[in-house]
Amino acid sequence: MEIIMESIWSQTVQIDKREHLPGDTNADVAVIGAGMAGLITAYLLKKQGKNVVVLEADRIAGGQTKNTTAKITSQHGAIYKTLIEHYGREKAQLYARANESAIDAYEKIIYDEGIDCHFKRENSYLYSTVDENSLKEELRAAASLGIKSYLVKLTKLPFPVKGAVCFPEQAQFHPLEFLRGISRDIQIYENTKALKVNGHSVITKWGTVKAQHIVFATHYPFPIVPGFYFARQHQERSYVLAIKGIEKWDGMYYCMEEGGLSLRWYEDVLLVGGGAHRTGMKYSECGYSALRRSAKQLLPKGEEVAAWAAQDCITHDELPLIGTFSVLRPYWYVATGLKKWGMTGSMISAEIISDIICGIENPYAKLFSPKRCHFFAARKKLWRDIKISMAGLKRGWLNEGVKRCSHMGCVLKLNKEEGTWDCPCHGSRFKRDGSLIDNPAQTNFRKSCE
Ligand SMILES: Cc1cc2nc3c(=O)[nH]c(=O)nc-3n(C[C@H](O)[C@H](O)[C@H](O)COP(=O)(O)OP(=O)(O)OC[C@H]3O[C@@H](n4cnc5c(N)ncnc54)[C@H](O)[C@@H]3O)c2cc1C
Repeated sequence: MEIIMESIWSQTVQIDKREHLPGDTNADVAVIGAGMAGLITAYLLKKQGKNVVVLEADRIAGGQTKNTTAKITSQHGAIYKTLIEHYGREKAQLYARANESAIDAYEKIIYDEGIDCHFKRENSYLYSTVDENSLKEELRAAASLGIKSYLVKLTKLPFPVKGAVCFPEQAQFHPLEFLRGISRDIQIYENTKALKVNGHSVITKWGTVKAQHIVFATHYPFPIVPGFYFARQHQERSYVLAIKGIEKWDGMYYCMEEGGLSLRWYEDVLLVGGGAHRTGMKYSECGYSALRRSAKQLLPKGEEVAAWAAQDCITHDELPLIGTFSVLRPYWYVATGLKKWGMTGSMISAEIISDIICGIENPYAKLFSPKRCHFFAARKKLWRDIKISMAGLKRGWLNEGVKRCSHMGCVLKLNKEEGTWDCPCHGSRFKRDGSLIDNPAQTNFRKSCE
């Protein structure tokens, strides 16, 4: 059977096309980016009576959201032990509550709007193939925060595991069916890239939107200054295979070890995620081929019918960056660093940002605020990123003719499996002909001699 290189979501849902911005206009809020984060933000603001305009460079959900696996869960790998160690019980508990209530918020919107999007409550299992003790530690951490959780020795998985920590009543859905549902009445302009933001003005090639508030929901915020978001996160790429021919089980699964598989069902298709690596690095050890090897070994009866990849921003201190962009721009807002858990992350960011704009106190705003400084927790990753960026820049300066990223000038690496040029520093990606695929870069790549 032919393998389709497109996500199961884009294959099964078409969202109606929208026109580009017709000319200059005014709004209460301009949201840049029509992915999961931007559209839920626009939806909530509209419910609060705000006049919202959404500007999208490509199509609705044309970024990472169309390639997610769309688990809606507060179980983000073995996070709770780490969060308690870094930030203490109170903050770890806030993180858990924010994500738990995001699941309920999805359910409520889906119910209120009557959206048919395959939303289903499912147990979520964090499993290990090697180490029962780490599972027990994570269970103790989660339970101490009041998260409903328990340990199981046996799972429904068709390969042996040491056990799994179950978070009951989590959820999964079809992300594009959901976005089609909530975007119906929102003013969205597609093919309208924000080229520059000057104060309250968002400039596009079709005209300027003047807004009291501006939300950067662009996955990776593109302004370098203020905010310095490029120094606070890196991007990680992951791969998904859609597999048929396997007997179906209940529940969503996520392996706690590096290189393990993430699993969920969509109808009779099993979505198998993995092969993760920092964008622009480690292509020989990770990527599609590594994921296919693991899937073949653990799920030998499966037949691959589709495959796709996406990437997400990973912050240095394990927490997303959500809230006011910078003290220098108190009327700009950002949602980034969603760490591959951007379904609950998008709901949390939409609630925090819409609450700030509407003057409503939000219990989670401080935890995720970009104003925080967790230098101690972030220092190792920060130092690693400085070294990677300096090496990338130096090679660009010394070698004429190499392909350099148009964001900050780092040397690009060839990603042979996907036929793209990728930046190890901040994760921008380009086609072979130099045209831009993924931000933070905003324009096509350059050669260092140009
Ligand atoms: C393989 C993989 C699997 C994942 N699975 C899960 C999962 O199971 N559960 C979970 O919670 N999370 C998951 N995630 C994470 C989740 O998919 C993302 O965090 C989420 O989709 C990000 O949404 P977003 O709206 O921030 O970004 P995007 O969807 O990328 O949206 C940003 C939008 O902004 C637009 N844009 C960019 N620049 C401009 C500009 N200058 N002007 C106008 N528009 C612009 C882009 O075109 C894009 O449409 C996964 C991630 C990966 C990589």
